[in-house]
Amino acid sequence: MAITTEKDLGARMNTFQPDLIVEVTGACNRACAGCYAPNVVAKDAASVFEKRPELFLKSEALNNALSEIHHRIETASVRGGEPTLHPEISTLLGMIAPRANQVFLETHARWLMAKDFIPYMGLLEAIKKNGIIVKISFDKMHGLKEQELQGIIKFLNWHDVDYRIAITESSLVDYATTRSQCSFIKDEKIIFQMKALSADELVKPTIGTINVRGELKATLTHKFENTPELRVAYA
Ligand code: SF4
Repeated sequence: MAITTEKDLGARMNTFQPDLIVEVTGACNRACAGCYAPNVVAKDAASVFEKRPELFLKSEALNNALSEIHHRIETASVRGGEPTLHPEISTLLGMIAPRANQVFLETHARWLMAKDFIPYMGLLEAIKKNGIIVKISFDKMHGLKEQELQGIIKFLNWHDVDYRIAITESSLVDYATTRSQCSFIKDEKIIFQMKALSADELVKPTIGTINVRGELKATLTHKFENTPELRVAYA
């Protein structure tokens, strides 16, 4: 069956509907045009953690928020900002995993191409130990190249880590272009999301969102026209 409309595409592709989103940091080391997270842009993660610790979810706060949820979580998604900038991300993943049937780590994945991977060994171990699924953003906005994705997938397969490729585009044409750049990935590993143009179109987790302050809220933290601009650049 040919895919001719966004509706066809939505019916054919996997979508993403987590029950719980955990926003572990409001910092990111990229600045994608069109990002709707209210991030602080931090080239140097250590520096932003030192200067703005309030942008990072504390383990005690996560523990308190999780204790408000009294049933088994089907799907939890850990995001930011860029969640791997959190210096205690391995610990946080280890706290969430026992509570959920599936845990996704949403990432732009540049850390998986690091020449010096030693700082990420603990995170890789935590991912393997807790069966975390790495959800890689691959679309026009995130700018990851085809060859880079190929290298990342080879690395994850080598380490027996499960993954999904999240394509978020504004139109069928853009989706088709991006999908052709990762045609080596099977459909079952692809998650397609239409790019949200307003807060109403954002993913709505059934349980809610734990924000960086450890508050359990109905919706995720976002930045659209009416939300104050929070971007701050750190050298
Ligand atoms: S990598 Fe994701 S969170 Fe970071 S700026 Fe880009 S879209 Fe936003």
